[in-house]
Amino acid sequence: MKQYQLESALLPQGWVRECTVTVADDGIITHVDTGAGLAPTLGSISTPDVALAPDLAPASDGASTFGAERVAGIAIPGMPNAHSHAFQRAMVGNTEYRVSARDSFWTWRQAMYQLANRIEPEELQILATQLFVEMLKAGYTSVAEFHYLHRQKNAAPYPGTNGLWEAIDNAAEIAGIGLTFLPTLYQTSDFGGKPLKREQARFAMDTDVFLRAIQQRLADRRHQSRARTGAAFHSLRAVPLEHLREAALQLRGLDAALPVHIHVAEQLREVKACRQETGRRPIELLLDSGLLTPHWCLVHATHATPEELKGIAAAAAIVCASISTEANLGDGFFDTTRFLKAGGCLCVGSDSQATVSPAEELRWMEYQQRLRKKRRAVLAADTEPHVGTRLWRDAAQHGAQAIGQPAGAIAVGRRADWLVLDDTHPSMVGATAETALDHLLFAGASAAIRDVMVAGRWVILEGRHAADEALRGRFAHLMHGLAAPG
Ligand SMILES: [Zn+2]
Repeated sequence: MKQYQLESALLPQGWVRECTVTVADDGIITHVDTGAGLAPTLGSISTPDVALAPDLAPASDGASTFGAERVAGIAIPGMPNAHSHAFQRAMVGNTEYRVSARDSFWTWRQAMYQLANRIEPEELQILATQLFVEMLKAGYTSVAEFHYLHRQKNAAPYPGTNGLWEAIDNAAEIAGIGLTFLPTLYQTSDFGGKPLKREQARFAMDTDVFLRAIQQRLADRRHQSRARTGAAFHSLRAVPLEHLREAALQLRGLDAALPVHIHVAEQLREVKACRQETGRRPIELLLDSGLLTPHWCLVHATHATPEELKGIAAAAAIVCASISTEANLGDGFFDTTRFLKAGGCLCVGSDSQATVSPAEELRWMEYQQRLRKKRRAVLAADTEPHVGTRLWRDAAQHGAQAIGQPAGAIAVGRRADWLVLDDTHPSMVGATAETALDHLLFAGASAAIRDVMVAGRWVILEGRHAADEALRGRFAHLMHGLAAPG
């Protein structure tokens, strides 16, 4: 058990100065003392039965043997990253040139397939470790890895342990980030049960294998403090609806609170193909299926009608927007204003890793709306006039729900995942607690993220991670190798 004296902190009930937070050995917050008694308990997410992973961070300079450790600066909840494909970190910056006059998501996808067919488990582990450290430094304290790379290069299943899955588990462990691993079902190349293409062969998985693997992971990892298993369906293009329905019901039987994610309505071509094949739009099909619950996360939902947005909100399912990826791939605008007005729950993800920064995702969430509506402070709420505070606080809580982890708030029952902003950094000078997150989103204050804690352990101190030196050479070597013709 350890105590931290936070100089300034964002709690669910608002900003406080000088609060004492007690963290149990399993990384869960047991008390928050604001000086005026204990803060309210947030008990909606259950506390896992946990055992601590190795502490990978150096000891805090500020550690005190007696009493609480003093934490100067501004403490805010760490952000869950609700959508990531780690291997795509190797593509960042390498696809920003014209191949044809009709470049789009679909031409980018060919480059992604080429990379997906070259990656070996050892390479994936280096890529993912580098990426997860970058996420921590940017303020993501946990990540949902939407993983559809399942087979060996020759398309045969791995005998025994799946090296590609293990690479992600190992990377999260080394980085010290919370991980919700989402084995992803991928069976067809388009609506109508079209067979996989050759370049998609490594993604193939039978429903039985998928369900057994998830059941096994749930049993094996029950006691890990930062790890959670969920499941994903790549998309309605990649999983026939009847297979999806059958698998989803069986998953519910394994764990009624299992996080279930799906890409949906990212591209107009996808919506059109779905209508041609089924007479319905993709989100309509999901709503009609009756499967959506608060444990479902719809990734993108870019091309949703107003009725569909209302339907998602009514089902209390979460939408994960990855604005930087949606912009990078030319997907389109998500109607954030309408969705939030309907009571929808929104979180963010780094997806293709074009940008790994929750502050940037949220800034562009607001800027998209300003550009469209020609107004300012569009996503502020009546109850929270500061755009930065509103967006960060809500995305953290909804992100935690989407990835099924007890994170997203500095509160009793939640895991001690938080960031400390250096209030002496030039980007923060002049900020008050109330404007701190406005500075983080709109004044480039990601550079002021000084220390990061996950499950009660400092993983970033003074902007540095214990694995920085070891990673640098290995990552550079890997990237040079991947840049060579293959
Ligand atoms: Zn994605």
